[in-house]
Amino acid sequence: MPRKSKPNRECAEPSLTFAALGLSESVLRAVEAAGYREPTPIQAQAIPLILEGRDIIGIAQTGTGKTAAFTLPVVDRLIAGPRRTRVLILTPTRELCVQVEESVRNYARFAELAVAPVYGGVPLEPQQTALRAGVDVVVATPGRMIDHLERQNVVFDDLEVLVLDEADRMLDMGFAPQINRIVAQIPPYRQTLLFSATMPPEVEALARRYLRKPEVVQIGLR
Ligand code: AMP
Repeated sequence: MPRKSKPNRECAEPSLTFAALGLSESVLRAVEAAGYREPTPIQAQAIPLILEGRDIIGIAQTGTGKTAAFTLPVVDRLIAGPRRTRVLILTPTRELCVQVEESVRNYARFAELAVAPVYGGVPLEPQQTALRAGVDVVVATPGRMIDHLERQNVVFDDLEVLVLDEADRMLDMGFAPQINRIVAQIPPYRQTLLFSATMPPEVEALARRYLRKPEVVQIGLR
């Protein structure tokens, strides 16, 4: 799956290193292996806040480096923790689900983390087997996630971080009821990160409902 254009550097901050953002050693090694020399603006702004445990609204298009902006600090948080499902990333489409899952795998390559992609249009059983074996991170489209929750293939009792990626697209695709059902199964004391290219009133309402004192990180025009 081709991965779009280069990150947008129009509003680059004074040059900053990934190490200065507070990421740990094994994540920094993965960043180096990926060939990234410096954080993009959204990464420079979002990563320290996410590492602090803040809720975030990231208004950023694809191509800004937004995936790494949430994936790197999330992987950082999982390192050395117990093997439990601690992170759920919801994405609108199967394609994005696969891309985000690849990013997580890539940035977790020096950490021992298990990741399961969960999307529709393919048999349920292999995903069920992966989930039941125990994973640290689930990357899912909302409809298929509900199927697995109904079968109790995974429980979110220990979930620490919820990421809503491309929230505007998820709402456009009519996933609001599924998102609500999924979030109802996640402990309220969690970190929630919402990324969206646009901020229509529906996305603002979603953010108001699920985020706590979010910091808004915005790249490009609103
Ligand atoms: P995204 O906005 O998440 O779709 O990312 C766009 C592309 O930028 C992906 O191919 C990433 O691998 C790449 N990328 C992300 N962060 C950086 C960085 N700091 N330096 C160079 N490329 C990056």
